Amino acid sequence: MTTLAAKATDILARLGADPARHTGGSMASFSPVTGEQVAALVPDTADTTDAAIARAGAAFLAWRLVPAPRRGELVRLLGEELRAAKADLGALVSIEAGKSPSEGAGEVQEMIDICDFAVGLSRQLYGLTIATERPGHRMMETWHPLGVVGVISAFNFPVAVWSWNTALALVCGNPVVWKPSEKTPLTALACQAVLDKALARFGDAPADLSQVLIGGADVGAALVAHKGVALISATGSTRMGRQVGPAVAARFGRTILELGGNNAGIVCPSADLDMALRAIAFGAMGTAGQRCTTMRRLFVHDSVYDALVPRLIKAYGSVSVGNPLETQALVGPLVDGAAFDAMQVALEAARAAGGTVHGGERVSVGTDAAFYARPALVEMPDQLGPVLEETFAPILYVMKFSDFEGVLHKHNEVGAGLSSSIFTTDLREMETFLSAAGSDCGIANVNIGTSGAEIGGAFGGEKETGGGRESGSDAWKGYMRRATNTINYSRALPLAQGVVFDI
Ligand code: NAD
Repeated sequence: MTTLAAKATDILARLGADPARHTGGSMASFSPVTGEQVAALVPDTADTTDAAIARAGAAFLAWRLVPAPRRGELVRLLGEELRAAKADLGALVSIEAGKSPSEGAGEVQEMIDICDFAVGLSRQLYGLTIATERPGHRMMETWHPLGVVGVISAFNFPVAVWSWNTALALVCGNPVVWKPSEKTPLTALACQAVLDKALARFGDAPADLSQVLIGGADVGAALVAHKGVALISATGSTRMGRQVGPAVAARFGRTILELGGNNAGIVCPSADLDMALRAIAFGAMGTAGQRCTTMRRLFVHDSVYDALVPRLIKAYGSVSVGNPLETQALVGPLVDGAAFDAMQVALEAARAAGGTVHGGERVSVGTDAAFYARPALVEMPDQLGPVLEETFAPILYVMKFSDFEGVLHKHNEVGAGLSSSIFTTDLREMETFLSAAGSDCGIANVNIGTSGAEIGGAFGGEKETGGGRESGSDAWKGYMRRATNTINYSRALPLAQGVVFDI
């Protein structure tokens, strides 16, 4: 039987990844699908990290001078190479992150989509022309490349997060140095190989526009501390952001922080319950609860609680859990044993706080090395204890409410502010939820779940989610620096605000 390690090696060879980086090294990587080791990577060191950043700095000096639409051509080629590599890269995502084939392929599709977006963007890096108060003057703003972009990413979107950052960084004129999660290094090497193919076809790009650093938090910390990195775009836990944010601020670097979520849905009396049921099931159990946008809290109006929650409990009891590569299971593995333990700790705390737990037990798949769990639905008497924190596992805390104003307050009571949903057909409730007095999250949805964002919108959240925005809309501005230019084409020198300084 072909092992996952052999399959991963075949895919990497087909994509053209350098075997010297993922064979014979000291850093083991495992597949959550079976728990087996899939590679032995060669980790980076402080010296190789420094050298990579220096090379990226040299690449910046050349790349910033290439016209933006020409830079867009590289990203167009990257999109073409990703289309060709979609099946292989998607399969590698499934092996390394444990996603179903459909979700693995979906993640690569998201990479293709952001490339398309960024190509168009390469002709739209607009600045404003601004009316000036001085005669014979013109004022405008211009957007310039920023510098080296350091990308730090989490295990659960091992390739999409890199592409959100890299497609935008490249059209904005910046090189990228990427430190992927230590749990998903192979997909990173695969992405680099795909980009290398696009670079070869592009022809005259400077060397080292994109580099991958292999290693754990220590390698990430070295990237974060380095003055040669203009922007750190870090995706991961709030715990990580608490370390990264102050470290970059201390050297006046720039950050885009995409941190943890504790996302909620609200089901109102007028909701379409069939639709809500499906949206909640995908939002809370999909990707085994390991999306930053996973629905973790659910407030259900007491008039519809008995019509919805028993059906949800039934869905939790019957949803298929199993090996995503060999079965059609909708719920795959947790990333590792530590994730399973954290889930059990949270469920125990919920019981101690008066919660009734449905599900949550380990599901056997014939090996002790992989960790599968039945998703847990927990009926809670109130929002307390573990409900206030993100546990990165499929746990949905369900609470009753009777008062709309009160539930909005509860909704916003947690530290994180990433994604949110309301299920209602009442216009007043919907608009209030989306208003300044409603959800305080970066993503607020109506009649769809909390997860599954498209790349066209800006992605990110407030409060302990970090405040950063990536992907669509005007998120590109985070990757450039703005200059305000005032040009005097008159023969006089009037000063602003009527100030006189005659010499
Ligand atoms: P994690 O915080 O453990 O690790 C994320 C990355 O940060 C890894 O590459 C890790 O090596 C690095 N890292 C950790 N400490 C660091 C430090 N001090 N300096 C520099 N780098 C450091 O997160 P994880 O377990 O891989 O992913 C799950 C978490 O990520 C969840 O909290 C989830 O909500 C969050 N997430 C957020 C988003 C978002 O867009 N908001 C997207 C995906 C995941």
